[in-house]
Amino acid sequence: MATETAKITRRVPIVCIRGSVVFPHTDTLLSFGRNKSVIAVNSAFQDDRVVAIFTQRDPRVANPDIDDLYKIGTIATITQMMQTNGEIHALIRGQARITLKKIIAYEPFLVGEVAEISMEKEDTEKAKAMGKELAEVFKKAVNLGKQVEVMTVMRLISGQVDDVELTDQIAALLEIKIPQKQELLEILPLEERMAKVLDYLNKETNILDLERTISVKTQKRFEDQMRKAMLREKKRTIEEELGEMNEDGEVTTEEIREYKLKIKDAKMPEDVKKKAEKELKRLSQLSPNNPEGGYMRNYLDWLVDMPWSKSTPNNVSIKKAAKILADRHYGMEKAKERILEFLAVMKLKDKLKKKVSENQPTILCFIGPPGVGKTSIGKSIAEALNRKFVRVSLGGIRDEAEIRGHRRTYIGALPGRIIQGVKNAGTNNPVFMLDEIDKVGIDFRGDPSSALLEALDPEQNREFSDHYLEVPFDLSKVMFIATGNILDTIPPALRDRMEVITFPGYTEEEKFKIADAFLWPKQLRLHGLEREKIKLAKEALKEIISRYTREAGVRDLERNLASVCRKIARLIAENKKHPKKIEVSEVVKYLGPQRFSSLIAEKKNEIGMSTGLAVTAVGGEILFIEVALMPGRGKLTLTGQLGEVMQESAKAAFTWAKSHYKELGLKDDFAMNMDVHIHVPEGAVPKDGPSAGTAITTALVSALTKIPVKRDVGMTGEITLRGRVLEIGGVKEKVIAGHRAGLKTILLPKDNKKDLEDIPAAVKKDIKFIFAENVEDDLSVALTTWPIAKN
Ligand code: ADP
Repeated sequence: MATETAKITRRVPIVCIRGSVVFPHTDTLLSFGRNKSVIAVNSAFQDDRVVAIFTQRDPRVANPDIDDLYKIGTIATITQMMQTNGEIHALIRGQARITLKKIIAYEPFLVGEVAEISMEKEDTEKAKAMGKELAEVFKKAVNLGKQVEVMTVMRLISGQVDDVELTDQIAALLEIKIPQKQELLEILPLEERMAKVLDYLNKETNILDLERTISVKTQKRFEDQMRKAMLREKKRTIEEELGEMNEDGEVTTEEIREYKLKIKDAKMPEDVKKKAEKELKRLSQLSPNNPEGGYMRNYLDWLVDMPWSKSTPNNVSIKKAAKILADRHYGMEKAKERILEFLAVMKLKDKLKKKVSENQPTILCFIGPPGVGKTSIGKSIAEALNRKFVRVSLGGIRDEAEIRGHRRTYIGALPGRIIQGVKNAGTNNPVFMLDEIDKVGIDFRGDPSSALLEALDPEQNREFSDHYLEVPFDLSKVMFIATGNILDTIPPALRDRMEVITFPGYTEEEKFKIADAFLWPKQLRLHGLEREKIKLAKEALKEIISRYTREAGVRDLERNLASVCRKIARLIAENKKHPKKIEVSEVVKYLGPQRFSSLIAEKKNEIGMSTGLAVTAVGGEILFIEVALMPGRGKLTLTGQLGEVMQESAKAAFTWAKSHYKELGLKDDFAMNMDVHIHVPEGAVPKDGPSAGTAITTALVSALTKIPVKRDVGMTGEITLRGRVLEIGGVKEKVIAGHRAGLKTILLPKDNKKDLEDIPAAVKKDIKFIFAENVEDDLSVALTTWPIAKN
């Protein structure tokens, strides 16, 4: 056991150091810059060369006092000294541990009273064993790269140094922090100190070991990479030297060989093949690092992936097509019939290999609001003809390059949507649906519709040229079907090429049948509820149709049914009770409150407001026409985004009213004292067309005469200045929309009587039709009283 005995105290100059700890039995080179230290060392060197070295607790303190120093330090002798400008360097030999009792002078340097700590010799077996181990581990550390002077190493591992010295000297060499070093100075029992030093040394050795392993591994990896790179380079040289290079200087790599096979497999037309081979040759001559290579590969991929000669067998069976259409789609008899006729003509032409005559439309075009089954019919046609089905939207296309592709010089160039669609189909005779053909725009970047025309025209599309592809592609086997919501905005040149089939929208009755037979079973299946056989009560379905949707098609309806299925599926997944049949009273539980709570027929009559019928992009619709009068000078204001034609209708109505002031019971100059404002709500939706004439007149007359308009009467018809009512279009769509809204009476122009044929019987049953020749005929039905009682 080591003991501490404070011997007699002595007075010595004190030197404060930072950043190191001086141990007894060691030689340390110290540099001093602080004035007090310089003077202290100098004066000690002149005297008995003895100084007391204490380490500062905080290296930042410039002028340390007793409390700023660790209490245990080392008494040392200065063996050598050298002075450079302002600094002195001294070789110091540590002698023994000391404690600092007090400081007795501060100027010109610190002088303290210190007491030496005497250590009893500990010659225990344990200390000896530990000493041996220390020397061993130290040797290992040096072997692993610990930086120590050779002489010191020799001495320490020789076995000649006693354990106390060994421990202090190794402690001085450890790579540890200052407080840890100071702690080693302060541990007085030898065994304990040895154990601690050994512990630190072991840790350091382990780290050295780890570093060595890592650096060996890194070195090895680096060498491996070098070797591989060299081998690759060699392989390339060998390939070049040994016949793998053909006479043109192309290098045949694996990649080039693969492309060659692909070009062969693609069965391209001869000139396309030549083009591909030329491109491949360029690629093979390209240095591997050239970025051009990426573009070339991309292009070659397009060339080899196009279905140049891949097609599905062409066997049109009209019978099969008829069956598929009948099985998959309810109603739409007229559309189905025309589709079948179209297919029959196609088959015949094919058989006779007849060239298509110029005026014969060759493309089907489905026009109708969303959700009326245009897409699904297209898919059924593809299935009936055994062809692939692809769909591309043309909505918002303004740039010709979207149709015909960008030239390859353009960064990020790609083929246009037609070629992309054909590639996606993977065959050259798919059914190709071009959605939103009514929304193709025109601007300065070329006219996309003329590019479309080229793609669709059988006279030209045998050699359809895409800017990216550069070689012509034969589109003549593709069956194009265009779709859109309205016919008006399709460029006439395109329209002439197409066989237009209109899908007018469904009646409530038809929707019921479609939902019952198709949509509900489909949604059950999609939600994994097939086997549950969950029923939807008739009344519940009717409620969903009339109170939760208001649309021409069945898209919203399908969405609502999906929503019901989702909720049931969740109940089942959570092991909760679920209904076997959904009653009308439960619809609210699944779909929330009704979205269209009252039908128009349930609302009350109003003055200055009539109900018109119109056809918009989402199908037939009812629109309200509001008229307000105010004092003024006969100005007519129109709002609600009305097109020019509709504005003219309004002016005609106003003129008619002015010229019929007598019948209307008005003063002859009534118009001079008032302004008229006509508004058609839902101002964000542009509206146009002449067919609102009768409705505008009715609302205006109602406002002028203060006679209310019957709410359940709807009307459509163009008017002349003399009040004649002229024929209009879209009767079926309009009537269905009126029926959906709950109208009881509909006023149509007399010349539209013939269109009644197309109206489903279920609608005819609910609605009274009245045919008007003059606007008075409309007024007499729509206004609550007529003729006007004369003033
Ligand atoms: P569109 O292309 O006209 O917007 P979709 O073809 O996407 O309409 O039709 C919407 C949904 O309604 C589809 O699930 C479709 O199967 C269904 N559907 C529409 N009309 C009918 C119909 N007459 N018979 C059966 N299902 C129909």
